[in-house]
Amino acid sequence: MRIPREVEKIIETLEAGGFEAYAVGGCVRDTLLGREPEDWDITTSARPEQVKRLFRRTIDTGIQHGTVTVLENHRGFEVTTYRIDGEYEDGRHPNNVEFTASLTEDLKRRDFTINAMAYSKKTGIVDEFGGVEDLERGIIRCVGTAKERFTEDALRILRAIRFSAQLGFDIEERTLEAVREIAPNLVHVSKERIQVELTKLLKSPHPERMHLVFDTGIAPYVSAHFAEAGNPGEGGAKNWLTAEFEAEKSVRWAAFLRALESPGACRILKELKLDNDTISRVRLLAENWRRPLPAEKYELRKAMSRMDGEMFDCLLGFRETAGTDSPAQAERLQELTGEIRRAGDCISLKELAVTGRDLIDAGVKPGPEIGECLNRMLEEVLRCPEHNTKEYLLRF
Ligand code: ATP
Ligand code: MG
Repeated sequence: MRIPREVEKIIETLEAGGFEAYAVGGCVRDTLLGREPEDWDITTSARPEQVKRLFRRTIDTGIQHGTVTVLENHRGFEVTTYRIDGEYEDGRHPNNVEFTASLTEDLKRRDFTINAMAYSKKTGIVDEFGGVEDLERGIIRCVGTAKERFTEDALRILRAIRFSAQLGFDIEERTLEAVREIAPNLVHVSKERIQVELTKLLKSPHPERMHLVFDTGIAPYVSAHFAEAGNPGEGGAKNWLTAEFEAEKSVRWAAFLRALESPGACRILKELKLDNDTISRVRLLAENWRRPLPAEKYELRKAMSRMDGEMFDCLLGFRETAGTDSPAQAERLQELTGEIRRAGDCISLKELAVTGRDLIDAGVKPGPEIGECLNRMLEEVLRCPEHNTKEYLLRF
């Protein structure tokens, strides 16, 4: 297995200090799958103070949970002491943790077999729960008894579905049974943690697996109004939520929630504590995706004036994927959009040839009238771009 030089160096330094150390979790899984891991986590028998003594540059990331970030070659690597987790509460971390000297104990606390493998050059792959086999067979299976593991931390229920969507894996039978059974416990998990998993699920190569959240009866426990989104797999609907939608956060959320009108969609996003930027992008998509958009420049400029250029391109792509515009229509809309842009037509107040200052200088009373006046001028130039001159507009 190939691991980055920095990780190798950190592991060797810990070993030279008399400790055990391994790359662990997601990075081992992803490397075995031939995917580029997002980050590299290291697990070690050394206590945080001992880790800190061995490296020049460290950050106390979560000392109480045993995590120190080691900086190597300007990159950060989380080094965490072998531990046994106590009770999980409403947070990212368990309430209390107990350090242990045993790698096996540390691997046992992890959620799925494919996430419970460790690797070091010295020892090779440590796979005590059949993770390699499950990777080969494409199976998500809990380490230990699924029901117990989901009861400890109900977020794992959503993680199972999320990994199944990211990797295209099936959820093993007993694990799936436990998903159904323990689903009500999800009400105790924080909305932020739930949202992170749902977003990863939606952005994955298999967003349609969101149907599992409904089929297994989880939806009512995700948030008060989540079930209103509707099962994207209802009646065997194949194309409701496909990977053809751009793998971008707001696009995938908007695609999933598109059976709802904008207020209903935004209510769910707020419940799930999505960031304001994503919510406002989803709102624009929800308000505009099914609106008729004639291939006509005035109509198009009007639509363009409602959002920035990047968002408008995003909307056109969304409409085509959702089937609002046929491929031929979509192509025509893109052509016209290109023409409008190349011509430099005014589509926002910023590009208007007249500013509020100009109006005041021309004798308009400062106050709300200024804005109203500018908006009327914009409406005029959206219709007739050649009217966007100071002379014409001040007379207008
Ligand atoms: P990603 O690609 O999303 O980063 P990951 O597997 O690395 O996936 P992380 O959330 O970064 O997931 O967690 C790192 C490792 O910590 C996991 O591989 C798993 O071993 C363990 N882990 C994370 N969250 C939990 C949890 N809720 N319960 C048990 N183990 C967990
Ligand atoms: Mg990770």
